[in-house]
Amino acid sequence: MTSTSEQQQEKPTCNYCGKKLYGREGKKYCNVDCKNNYNSRIRSELRSKENEFLPDAFSKIRVNYRILNNYKDQFEKSNLIYVEKEDILKLGFNTQYCIKAYIDDKKILWKNCHDYSWSEYEGSIAIRYGMYYWM
Ligand SMILES: [Zn+2]
Repeated sequence: MTSTSEQQQEKPTCNYCGKKLYGREGKKYCNVDCKNNYNSRIRSELRSKENEFLPDAFSKIRVNYRILNNYKDQFEKSNLIYVEKEDILKLGFNTQYCIKAYIDDKKILWKNCHDYSWSEYEGSIAIRYGMYYWM
């Protein structure tokens, strides 16, 4: 015969918050919130593990893209903008990391990050938006 205290210890606990579970057998979570929180915690752990093994260049390119995308609104008026080099570098933009590069007919080197391309000048960076430059 088992004592009440032993039965208490055997009570299953929620996978997420660790509280004792009541109700049907085989229950793993207190409620749907704990279940969702548990699953999203697992997902974010997997994602961070995955990121650990991604080459450093991938994350630098991703950061570059996010920064370039901040200027997207400015391309409504023009398909070429100039930004202060110092400003964009301060945001974490790394000019060494791109996906493709090409030299145009004016001998200007353009580096590309998805639908943005940029070329470097002394104090500024020219940014173009649109994939058609690559065709
Ligand atoms: Zn819970």
